[in-house]
Amino acid sequence: MKKIEIDENGYYGNYGGAYIPEMLYPNVEELKSKYLEIMNDPSFQKEYQYLLKDYVGRPSPLYLAERLSEQVGSTIYLKREDLNHTGAHKINNAIGQVLLAQRLGKKRIIAETGAGQHGVATATVCALKGLQCIVYMGTVDIERQAPNVARMKMLGAKVVAARSGSQTLKDATNEAIRDWINHPEDTHYVIGSVVGPHPYPDMVARFQSIISEEIRWQLKEKTGSELPTHVIACVGGGSNAAGSFYHYLNEERVKLVAVEAAGCGVHSGKSAATTQLGTPGVLHGSKSILMQTADGQVVEPHSISAGLDYPGIGPLHAHLFESGRGIFLSATDEEALQEAFNLTRLEGIIPALESSHALAGLRKLNLSKKDVVVLCLSGRGDKDMDTYMKHLPK
Ligand SMILES: *Cc1c(COP(=O)(O)O)cnc(C)c1O
Repeated sequence: MKKIEIDENGYYGNYGGAYIPEMLYPNVEELKSKYLEIMNDPSFQKEYQYLLKDYVGRPSPLYLAERLSEQVGSTIYLKREDLNHTGAHKINNAIGQVLLAQRLGKKRIIAETGAGQHGVATATVCALKGLQCIVYMGTVDIERQAPNVARMKMLGAKVVAARSGSQTLKDATNEAIRDWINHPEDTHYVIGSVVGPHPYPDMVARFQSIISEEIRWQLKEKTGSELPTHVIACVGGGSNAAGSFYHYLNEERVKLVAVEAAGCGVHSGKSAATTQLGTPGVLHGSKSILMQTADGQVVEPHSISAGLDYPGIGPLHAHLFESGRGIFLSATDEEALQEAFNLTRLEGIIPALESSHALAGLRKLNLSKKDVVVLCLSGRGDKDMDTYMKHLPK
C-alpha cells in the first residue's frame, strides 16, 4: 500500500493544492509558511492541550455500546464527540485555529457554517478570547437551525445571511471567502472542515487528529489492541472522518469507512453523495471530487442534515476514495432518521442527524461477531430536535 500523506504542495495524490484568487495569496502564503511552526511550538501545544482538557472536556469517552453491539452482531464503540463542549467535534478545530490566528496577530475572525455547529464553536472560542467574530450562514440553514443562530448571537457573533444559490453551506463559504478577500490584513478565516486551499485541509486534519490519537490508547486499554477492524464516520467536508482516520491512515488492517448523505436517494436528484455523483474539479480553493454538471456548474446538494449538505469533500477523502483506501457508503435521510431513533431507544443517546448517517453505515458492512468497530459519534442531537419531532415514530 502506498503511504497516505500530504506532499509539500498540499496534494494527497491527485487532490488538494491551493486554487485561489491573487488577492488571497498573501493570506494563504502566510498561513502556509507558519502553521506547522506555530502548531509545533511547545507554548502553543500547552495552551491547546489545556483548553482541550479543561474547556472542551477531553478526552471524550470511548463508549462500548452494548445494546447496539448486540443488535448489529459485532462489537461497537462510540467515540463520544457529542459530549464535547458545544456538542460536536468542531470545537477541536475552532480552538486550534483561533489560537493560531492570535499568534498571527489577527484581530477579526470570520467563519462559514452549515448546521451552525462550526459557527457556534468559533463564536464560543472568540468569546473566550475576546475577539470579533462574523459568521456567514445560508438563509435556509438560518431557518432550520434557529437554536444555533440564537447561540451565536448570545456569544456576541454577528450572523450574516448568505442569500445566493441554495442558501446553504456552499453559499456561506463563498461569502466568507469574499469577506476574506476584502479584509486580507487583520482577518483570519476559520474554515470548519478539511476543505479549502492548502494548508487548510492538513491543518484542520491535524487539529481533529486528537480523535484518533485518543481512540488508539482508549481502545488499547479496553481490548488490548490499538487497532479496530473498522473506523466509521460521516462525511460532509470530512473533518470528523479525517480526525477519526488520521492515526490509522497507514494501518492497512484497519478499514476506513466514510458515509455520505444520499438525501432522498443517490439518483433522486436530491442528494449529497459526492463520491457517487461527483467528478474531479475545483471548489472553494482545492482540487477534489464535487457534484457538478458536464460544463462545471456546481449541483445543489440536498441532505436532511445541514452539516452534510455540501457538494464536495476534502481532498484527503477524494484520494481515499480514488485509491481504494477508504470504503465509501451513503445513507438516505430516511435511514438516518431511523438510526437516530434506534440509537436513542437502545442507548439513551440522541445523536446529531449527521452522526446518524455513520450509524446507518453499520448496516451496510456485513459485520461479523469478531469485528471491533469504532464509530465517531460526531455530535449530539439537540440542534435537530425540530426535525426529530416532525418524524417521531407513532
Ligand atoms: C459539521 C458536522 C459534521 C460534518 O462535518 P465534517 O467536516 O464532515 O465532519 C458532522 N457531524 C456533526 C455533528 C457536525 O456538526
